[in-house]
Amino acid sequence: MSKVGFIGLGIMGGPMAANLVKAGHEVVGYNRSQAKVDKLVADGGKAAASVAEAVRDAEIIFTMLPDSPDVEAVVLGEDGVLANAKSGALLVDCSTIRPDVSRRVAEAAAEKGVRALDAPVSGGEPKAIDGTLSIMVGGEADAFAAAQDVLNAVGTTIVHVGPSGAGQTVKAANQLIVAGNIGLVAEALVFLEAHGVDTEAGMKVLGGGLAGSTVLDAKNEKMRNREFAPGFRLELHHKDMGIVQAAARDAGLTIPLGSLVSQLVAAAVAQGDGKLDHSGLLKQITQLNGRD
Ligand code: NAD
Repeated sequence: MSKVGFIGLGIMGGPMAANLVKAGHEVVGYNRSQAKVDKLVADGGKAAASVAEAVRDAEIIFTMLPDSPDVEAVVLGEDGVLANAKSGALLVDCSTIRPDVSRRVAEAAAEKGVRALDAPVSGGEPKAIDGTLSIMVGGEADAFAAAQDVLNAVGTTIVHVGPSGAGQTVKAANQLIVAGNIGLVAEALVFLEAHGVDTEAGMKVLGGGLAGSTVLDAKNEKMRNREFAPGFRLELHHKDMGIVQAAARDAGLTIPLGSLVSQLVAAAVAQGDGKLDHSGLLKQITQLNGRD
Protein backbone atom coordinates (compact mmCIF):
# COMPACT_ATOMS: atom_id res chain seq x y z
CA MET A 1 0.00 0.00 0.00
CA SER A 2 1.26 3.48 -0.80
CA LYS A 3 1.45 6.86 0.85
CA VAL A 4 -0.53 9.08 -1.52
CA GLY A 5 -0.72 12.88 -1.65
CA PHE A 6 -3.82 14.08 -3.52
CA ILE A 7 -4.29 17.67 -4.70
CA GLY A 8 -7.60 18.81 -6.21
CA LEU A 9 -10.56 17.15 -4.51
CA GLY A 10 -13.35 18.39 -6.80
CA ILE A 11 -16.09 16.54 -8.69
CA MET A 12 -13.57 13.96 -9.96
CA GLY A 13 -10.68 14.17 -7.48
CA GLY A 14 -12.92 13.78 -4.40
CA PRO A 15 -14.31 10.34 -5.30
CA MET A 16 -10.96 9.21 -6.77
CA ALA A 17 -9.21 10.01 -3.48
CA ALA A 18 -12.00 8.21 -1.58
CA ASN A 19 -11.48 5.11 -3.75
CA LEU A 20 -7.74 5.17 -3.01
CA VAL A 21 -8.60 5.18 0.72
CA LYS A 22 -11.01 2.26 0.17
CA ALA A 23 -8.25 0.30 -1.57
CA GLY A 24 -6.11 0.66 1.57
CA HIS A 25 -3.78 3.50 0.59
CA GLU A 26 -2.89 6.25 3.06
CA VAL A 27 -4.23 9.40 1.40
CA VAL A 28 -3.35 12.94 2.46
CA GLY A 29 -5.45 15.49 0.56
CA TYR A 30 -5.28 19.20 -0.16
CA ASN A 31 -7.81 21.42 -1.90
CA ARG A 32 -8.15 25.17 -2.19
CA SER A 33 -11.57 25.08 -0.52
CA GLN A 34 -11.61 23.42 2.90
CA ALA A 35 -15.03 21.72 2.58
CA LYS A 36 -13.59 19.27 0.03
CA VAL A 37 -10.75 18.38 2.42
CA ASP A 38 -13.28 17.79 5.21
CA LYS A 39 -15.15 15.40 2.91
CA LEU A 40 -11.97 13.39 2.32
CA VAL A 41 -11.39 13.18 6.08
CA ALA A 42 -14.98 11.91 6.50
CA ASP A 43 -14.13 9.28 3.86
CA GLY A 44 -11.10 8.10 5.88
CA GLY A 45 -8.31 10.25 4.43
CA LYS A 46 -6.09 12.82 6.12
CA ALA A 47 -6.13 16.60 5.74
CA ALA A 48 -3.23 18.72 4.54
CA ALA A 49 -3.17 22.50 4.96
CA SER A 50 -0.93 23.08 1.94
CA VAL A 51 0.49 21.45 -1.17
CA ALA A 52 3.77 21.04 0.71
CA GLU A 53 2.10 19.14 3.54
CA ALA A 54 0.22 16.87 1.12
CA VAL A 55 3.30 15.79 -0.82
CA ARG A 56 6.19 15.86 1.69
CA ASP A 57 5.99 12.17 2.67
CA ALA A 58 4.15 10.89 -0.40
CA GLU A 59 5.39 8.05 -2.58
CA ILE A 60 2.71 8.82 -5.15
CA ILE A 61 1.25 12.27 -5.82
CA PHE A 62 -2.03 12.74 -7.67
CA THR A 63 -3.13 16.07 -9.11
CA MET A 64 -6.69 16.56 -10.41
CA LEU A 65 -6.95 20.25 -11.25
CA PRO A 66 -9.05 22.21 -13.75
CA ASP A 67 -6.61 23.57 -16.35
CA SER A 68 -2.99 23.93 -17.53
CA PRO A 69 -2.22 27.10 -15.48
CA ASP A 70 -3.50 25.35 -12.32
CA VAL A 71 -1.17 22.39 -12.87
CA GLU A 72 1.74 24.71 -13.66
CA ALA A 73 1.11 26.70 -10.45
CA VAL A 74 0.61 23.67 -8.18
CA VAL A 75 3.36 21.46 -9.60
CA LEU A 76 6.02 23.92 -10.82
CA GLY A 77 5.23 26.90 -8.57
CA GLU A 78 7.13 28.16 -5.58
CA ASP A 79 6.48 25.80 -2.65
CA GLY A 80 4.63 23.53 -5.09
CA VAL A 81 4.78 19.78 -5.66
CA LEU A 82 8.29 19.60 -7.11
CA ALA A 83 9.71 21.94 -4.48
CA ASN A 84 8.53 19.56 -1.75
CA ALA A 85 8.31 16.03 -3.18
CA LYS A 86 10.80 13.35 -2.16
CA SER A 87 13.26 12.23 -4.79
CA GLY A 88 11.92 8.95 -6.18
CA ALA A 89 8.28 10.00 -5.82
CA LEU A 90 5.85 9.42 -8.69
CA LEU A 91 3.57 12.22 -9.94
CA VAL A 92 0.32 11.14 -11.59
CA ASP A 93 -1.44 14.14 -13.14
CA CYS A 94 -5.03 13.20 -13.98
CA SER A 95 -6.07 16.73 -15.01
CA THR A 96 -6.98 17.36 -18.65
CA ILE A 97 -4.39 19.86 -19.85
CA ARG A 98 -2.30 20.76 -22.91
CA PRO A 99 0.08 17.97 -24.03
CA ASP A 100 3.02 20.42 -24.17
CA VAL A 101 2.44 21.39 -20.53
CA SER A 102 2.47 17.70 -19.54
CA ARG A 103 5.79 17.27 -21.33
CA ARG A 104 7.22 20.32 -19.57
CA VAL A 105 6.00 19.05 -16.19
CA ALA A 106 7.65 15.65 -16.85
CA GLU A 107 10.96 17.32 -17.76
CA ALA A 108 10.91 19.54 -14.65
CA ALA A 109 10.00 16.51 -12.51
CA ALA A 110 12.88 14.46 -13.94
CA GLU A 111 15.31 17.23 -12.91
CA LYS A 112 14.12 16.71 -9.30
CA GLY A 113 14.32 12.91 -9.47
CA VAL A 114 10.52 12.65 -9.64
CA ARG A 115 8.90 10.44 -12.30
CA ALA A 116 5.78 11.89 -13.92
CA LEU A 117 2.82 10.50 -15.84
CA ASP A 118 0.03 12.34 -17.60
CA ALA A 119 -3.03 10.22 -16.82
CA PRO A 120 -6.21 12.04 -17.86
CA VAL A 121 -9.44 10.16 -17.32
CA SER A 122 -12.78 9.63 -18.99
CA GLY A 123 -16.11 8.44 -17.62
CA GLY A 124 -17.30 11.45 -15.63
CA GLU A 125 -18.47 11.66 -12.05
CA PRO A 126 -20.40 8.34 -12.03
CA LYS A 127 -17.31 6.36 -13.05
CA ALA A 128 -15.10 8.35 -10.69
CA ILE A 129 -17.46 7.30 -7.87
CA ASP A 130 -17.56 3.65 -9.03
CA GLY A 131 -13.79 3.49 -9.57
CA THR A 132 -14.33 2.44 -13.18
CA LEU A 133 -12.68 5.30 -15.07
CA SER A 134 -10.92 4.92 -18.39
CA ILE A 135 -7.37 6.23 -17.97
CA MET A 136 -5.03 7.17 -20.84
CA VAL A 137 -1.46 7.29 -19.64
CA GLY A 138 1.58 9.01 -21.12
CA GLY A 139 5.12 8.60 -19.77
CA GLU A 140 7.90 6.06 -19.23
CA ALA A 141 6.98 2.37 -19.05
CA ASP A 142 8.58 1.88 -15.62
CA ALA A 143 6.61 4.79 -14.16
CA PHE A 144 3.43 3.31 -15.66
CA ALA A 145 4.24 -0.04 -14.04
CA ALA A 146 4.84 1.67 -10.68
CA ALA A 147 1.43 3.39 -10.90
CA GLN A 148 -0.55 0.22 -11.65
CA ASP A 149 -1.78 -0.40 -8.09
CA VAL A 150 -3.08 3.10 -7.49
CA LEU A 151 -4.58 3.41 -10.98
CA ASN A 152 -6.39 0.09 -10.45
CA ALA A 153 -8.10 1.70 -7.43
CA VAL A 154 -9.68 4.42 -9.60
CA GLY A 155 -10.12 2.88 -13.03
CA THR A 156 -10.73 -0.30 -14.99
CA THR A 157 -9.57 0.53 -18.52
CA ILE A 158 -5.99 1.70 -17.99
CA VAL A 159 -3.83 1.97 -21.09
CA HIS A 160 -0.27 3.17 -21.59
CA VAL A 161 -0.58 5.11 -24.85
CA GLY A 162 2.95 6.48 -25.31
CA PRO A 163 5.53 8.95 -23.97
CA SER A 164 4.80 12.10 -21.91
CA GLY A 165 1.95 14.11 -23.39
CA ALA A 166 0.46 11.14 -25.29
CA GLY A 167 -2.18 10.63 -22.59
CA GLN A 168 -3.32 14.23 -23.12
CA THR A 169 -3.40 13.81 -26.90
CA VAL A 170 -5.67 10.77 -26.55
CA LYS A 171 -7.83 12.66 -24.04
CA ALA A 172 -8.16 15.53 -26.55
CA ALA A 173 -9.46 13.00 -29.10
CA ASN A 174 -11.86 11.72 -26.41
CA GLN A 175 -13.23 15.23 -25.86
CA LEU A 176 -13.64 15.77 -29.62
CA ILE A 177 -15.75 12.60 -29.88
CA VAL A 178 -17.79 13.37 -26.74
CA ALA A 179 -18.60 16.96 -27.78
CA GLY A 180 -19.63 15.87 -31.28
CA ASN A 181 -21.73 13.07 -29.84
CA ILE A 182 -23.52 15.39 -27.40
CA GLY A 183 -24.18 17.84 -30.23
CA LEU A 184 -25.78 15.15 -32.40
CA VAL A 185 -27.82 13.63 -29.54
CA ALA A 186 -29.09 17.17 -28.84
CA GLU A 187 -30.04 17.68 -32.50
CA ALA A 188 -31.77 14.29 -32.61
CA LEU A 189 -33.74 15.16 -29.49
CA VAL A 190 -34.93 18.52 -30.87
CA PHE A 191 -35.73 16.76 -34.17
CA LEU A 192 -37.83 14.08 -32.42
CA GLU A 193 -39.62 16.68 -30.27
CA ALA A 194 -40.45 18.78 -33.37
CA HIS A 195 -42.07 15.70 -34.93
CA GLY A 196 -44.06 14.99 -31.77
CA VAL A 197 -42.36 11.63 -31.24
CA ASP A 198 -42.22 10.08 -27.74
CA THR A 199 -38.58 10.93 -27.04
CA GLU A 200 -38.19 8.36 -24.25
CA ALA A 201 -39.24 5.56 -26.62
CA GLY A 202 -37.21 7.05 -29.46
CA MET A 203 -34.01 7.33 -27.45
CA LYS A 204 -34.50 3.82 -26.03
CA VAL A 205 -34.55 2.21 -29.47
CA LEU A 206 -31.77 4.45 -30.83
CA GLY A 207 -29.62 3.37 -27.88
CA GLY A 208 -29.92 -0.30 -28.92
CA GLY A 209 -28.68 0.20 -32.48
CA LEU A 210 -25.67 1.68 -34.24
CA ALA A 211 -26.69 5.16 -33.03
CA GLY A 212 -26.21 4.00 -29.44
CA SER A 213 -23.35 5.45 -27.42
CA THR A 214 -22.17 5.95 -23.85
CA VAL A 215 -23.12 9.62 -24.23
CA LEU A 216 -26.64 8.73 -25.32
CA ASP A 217 -27.02 6.24 -22.43
CA ALA A 218 -25.58 8.55 -19.79
CA LYS A 219 -27.10 11.85 -20.88
CA ASN A 220 -30.34 11.45 -22.83
CA GLU A 221 -32.73 11.21 -19.87
CA LYS A 222 -31.37 14.34 -18.23
CA MET A 223 -31.34 16.12 -21.58
CA ARG A 224 -35.00 15.16 -22.16
CA ASN A 225 -35.81 16.56 -18.70
CA ARG A 226 -33.61 19.67 -19.21
CA GLU A 227 -31.61 18.81 -16.05
CA PHE A 228 -28.15 20.27 -16.51
CA ALA A 229 -26.50 20.13 -13.06
CA PRO A 230 -22.82 19.15 -13.57
CA GLY A 231 -21.19 16.54 -14.05
CA PHE A 232 -18.71 17.93 -16.46
CA ARG A 233 -19.03 21.68 -16.84
CA LEU A 234 -19.35 23.29 -20.27
CA GLU A 235 -16.55 25.73 -19.31
CA LEU A 236 -14.19 22.73 -18.91
CA HIS A 237 -15.29 21.28 -22.25
CA HIS A 238 -14.67 24.72 -23.80
CA LYS A 239 -11.13 24.52 -22.40
CA ASP A 240 -10.74 21.03 -23.89
CA MET A 241 -11.98 22.10 -27.34
CA GLY A 242 -9.26 24.77 -27.25
CA ILE A 243 -6.72 22.01 -26.58
CA VAL A 244 -8.14 19.91 -29.45
CA GLN A 245 -8.07 22.78 -31.91
CA ALA A 246 -4.54 23.88 -30.99
CA ALA A 247 -3.25 20.29 -31.22
CA ALA A 248 -4.96 19.81 -34.60
CA ARG A 249 -3.36 23.02 -35.88
CA ASP A 250 0.05 21.86 -34.57
CA ALA A 251 -0.30 18.73 -36.68
CA GLY A 252 -1.51 20.69 -39.76
CA LEU A 253 -4.95 19.10 -39.55
CA THR A 254 -8.44 20.38 -40.21
CA ILE A 255 -11.27 19.13 -38.00
CA PRO A 256 -14.42 20.65 -39.54
CA LEU A 257 -16.98 18.92 -37.31
CA GLY A 258 -14.89 19.53 -34.21
CA SER A 259 -14.56 23.21 -35.11
CA LEU A 260 -18.32 23.59 -35.52
CA VAL A 261 -19.14 21.93 -32.22
CA SER A 262 -16.44 23.92 -30.44
CA GLN A 263 -18.11 27.14 -31.67
CA LEU A 264 -21.41 25.93 -30.21
CA VAL A 265 -19.69 25.13 -26.90
CA ALA A 266 -18.06 28.60 -26.96
CA ALA A 267 -21.46 30.21 -27.59
CA ALA A 268 -22.97 28.33 -24.64
CA VAL A 269 -20.19 29.57 -22.36
CA ALA A 270 -20.46 33.14 -23.73
CA GLN A 271 -24.17 33.10 -22.94
CA GLY A 272 -23.50 32.29 -19.31
CA ASP A 273 -24.04 28.52 -19.37
CA GLY A 274 -20.45 27.56 -18.52
CA LYS A 275 -21.39 26.13 -15.13
CA LEU A 276 -23.97 23.75 -16.63
CA ASP A 277 -23.20 20.13 -17.52
CA HIS A 278 -21.89 19.75 -21.08
CA SER A 279 -25.21 18.13 -22.02
CA GLY A 280 -26.50 21.73 -21.62
CA LEU A 281 -25.27 22.17 -25.20
CA LEU A 282 -28.85 21.14 -25.93
CA LYS A 283 -29.88 24.69 -24.97
CA GLN A 284 -27.85 26.09 -27.90
CA ILE A 285 -29.40 23.67 -30.38
CA THR A 286 -32.85 24.40 -29.00
CA GLN A 287 -32.36 28.19 -29.23
CA LEU A 288 -30.96 27.97 -32.77
CA ASN A 289 -34.26 26.37 -33.68
CA GLY A 290 -36.37 28.97 -31.88
CA ARG A 291 -37.82 26.34 -29.56
CA ASP A 292 -37.97 25.90 -25.76
P1 NAD B 1 -13.56 20.67 -10.22
O1 NAD B 1 -13.52 22.13 -10.48
O2 NAD B 1 -14.79 20.07 -9.62
O3 NAD B 1 -12.31 20.24 -9.30
C1 NAD B 1 -11.06 20.87 -9.30
C2 NAD B 1 -10.65 21.07 -7.84
O4 NAD B 1 -9.34 21.63 -7.81
C3 NAD B 1 -11.58 22.05 -7.10
O5 NAD B 1 -12.04 21.43 -5.91
C4 NAD B 1 -10.67 23.25 -6.81
O6 NAD B 1 -10.98 23.87 -5.57
C5 NAD B 1 -9.31 22.59 -6.79
N1 NAD B 1 -8.22 23.52 -7.07
C6 NAD B 1 -8.09 24.37 -8.12
N2 NAD B 1 -6.91 25.04 -8.03
C7 NAD B 1 -6.30 24.59 -6.92
C8 NAD B 1 -5.07 24.90 -6.29
N3 NAD B 1 -4.26 25.83 -6.80
N4 NAD B 1 -4.75 24.24 -5.15
C9 NAD B 1 -5.59 23.32 -4.62
N5 NAD B 1 -6.77 22.97 -5.17
C10 NAD B 1 -7.12 23.62 -6.30
O7 NAD B 1 -13.22 19.99 -11.62
P2 NAD B 1 -13.42 18.45 -12.05
O8 NAD B 1 -14.72 18.33 -12.77
O9 NAD B 1 -13.10 17.56 -10.91
O10 NAD B 1 -12.28 18.35 -13.17
C11 NAD B 1 -10.89 18.25 -12.85
C12 NAD B 1 -10.14 17.88 -14.13
O11 NAD B 1 -10.63 16.62 -14.61
C13 NAD B 1 -10.31 18.89 -15.26
O12 NAD B 1 -9.12 19.00 -15.98
C14 NAD B 1 -11.41 18.26 -16.12
O13 NAD B 1 -11.31 18.69 -17.47
C15 NAD B 1 -11.09 16.79 -15.95
N6 NAD B 1 -12.23 15.86 -16.11
C16 NAD B 1 -13.44 16.12 -15.55
C17 NAD B 1 -14.49 15.21 -15.73
C18 NAD B 1 -15.87 15.46 -15.17
O14 NAD B 1 -16.82 14.76 -15.58
N7 NAD B 1 -16.06 16.38 -14.23
C19 NAD B 1 -14.28 14.03 -16.45
C20 NAD B 1 -13.01 13.77 -16.96
C21 NAD B 1 -11.99 14.69 -16.79
